[in-house]
Amino acid sequence: MTRFSVMTLFPEMIDAGLNVSILARAAGKGLIDINAVNIRDYTDNKHGRVDDYTYGGGAGMLMQAQPIYDCYQALTDDHPAGRVIYVTPQGRTFDQNMARELAEEEHIVFLCGHYEGVDERVLEAIVTDYVSIGDYVLTGGELPAMVMIDAISRHIPGVLHNEESTDTESFAEGLLEYPQYTRPEEWMGRKVPEILLSGDHAKVDVWRHQESLIRTKQRRPDLYDVYMASHPEDTK
Ligand code: SAM
Repeated sequence: MTRFSVMTLFPEMIDAGLNVSILARAAGKGLIDINAVNIRDYTDNKHGRVDDYTYGGGAGMLMQAQPIYDCYQALTDDHPAGRVIYVTPQGRTFDQNMARELAEEEHIVFLCGHYEGVDERVLEAIVTDYVSIGDYVLTGGELPAMVMIDAISRHIPGVLHNEESTDTESFAEGLLEYPQYTRPEEWMGRKVPEILLSGDHAKVDVWRHQESLIRTKQRRPDLYDVYMASHPEDTK
């Protein structure tokens, strides 16, 4: 079982966002466990404060070290964490390879910042990885943690059914997925490509691969160039 612990000021966001559909089914089967913990429950401050002004001045509040550190200690006391991830726009950009790699861990702790961020000293004390979900700034780390947990869980054996497999989808081989169609055969004058109705699986595979190449070249030329550099024999 893979354990995801999320240190946050808004655990209800994580519970509402991840306890549905495929992830709820995976949790029900005991394949994953998502535990969102309120950092505020660990503050020593009698008024429940978890943030304060930044030294040196500047706008906004900063999350304090003590509640985060005590929360982390409580979470990892019985279950040491292989990775402690601070989700931050200052991190390495999350991608499918990172999702696949993190799916090997037994316990991942996420720290979600809020306001202006987090006191640097607690980051130095506990964080193993700084990860961003893209070059933009959000109000808090909850959505990034949810994005990552969702993407990681899909690589944990048993979470997806065979027919939902990650093997053929976008990024699996460095390419985007080919176009797909379902019933009816014709919709608003647009027909499903003939080859997909032929029943010839070998030809369908060739067509899909060609379409993946075309689509990747059009939409993600950066990925296409990387793919072609390692597959020079592959032509579209
Ligand atoms: N002052 C910080 C900076 O300039 O880097 C931004 C703080 S942001 C308003 C509040 C929190 O949202 C961050 O501490 C982080 O946890 C989260 N966050 C915002 N954007 C993010 C992103 N692109 N990826 C991951 N986490 C993000």
